[in-house]
Amino acid sequence: MNQFIKGIIASWIELLYPKRCIACDKVLLKIEKESGFCKSCAKKIRLIGPHYCLTCGIAVKENEQYCITCKTAGHSFDQAKSVFRYTGEMKNAMYRFKYGNRRCYGDKFANHAIKNYGNWIKEKQIDVIIPVPMYDKKKKRRGYNQAEVFANSLSKMVGIPVENQFIRRNTDTVAMKQLNRLKRKKNLLKAFTIIKNDVQFRKVLIVDDIYTTGSTLDEVARVLKDGGVKEVYGLCICAGQL
Ligand SMILES: [Zn+2]
Ligand SMILES: [Zn+2]
Repeated sequence: MNQFIKGIIASWIELLYPKRCIACDKVLLKIEKESGFCKSCAKKIRLIGPHYCLTCGIAVKENEQYCITCKTAGHSFDQAKSVFRYTGEMKNAMYRFKYGNRRCYGDKFANHAIKNYGNWIKEKQIDVIIPVPMYDKKKKRRGYNQAEVFANSLSKMVGIPVENQFIRRNTDTVAMKQLNRLKRKKNLLKAFTIIKNDVQFRKVLIVDDIYTTGSTLDEVARVLKDGGVKEVYGLCICAGQL
């Protein structure tokens, strides 16, 4: 197909499915398309930084280095980062990304993740990106796993492969929104298993959509480390406030 026809098709698609703001879902102006947010949402959306917990990456007070959980309990993963604060419009955005088939957000989120943590990912010399797996039946019902969509977008941009057949989610764990840290931990016990024993990774980056208490990343990291992985890092699109 020649370039001219490709161009015409691209503009038809754009007319039929205009790019919309990730946060408020309004049609974007041309200059707003790169960031994925309209002008007014771009002002409202809050990134995590500049004051974040040095271990889990959630926002902390100006003179704190670690959040309460990291000060007291610690984690199985080595370090984690999140891009946005899970507040206001970002909650709607994450809902559409998860349930509304807005897989197109994956690239935009990956762009923002790399802008903020590209160097950090490079420094860690990650072998492979592993999205937090979804229970098979659930994935079939929903059609996709949003963590996997984000992982694939990241992979394209940083050139690190994605491995989504290394670890499996054994049960459809109950929704954890209402559970505290201890109950979440219990809920996740034996939730994941390594299913590929013929490969060995040294450094893994686990990716997920929302970081809340870190219990999911912890459990995946624990299973990976039991399986011989040396260092496990986490990267999430949003982090909730505790
Ligand atoms: Zn907007
Ligand atoms: Zn922390």
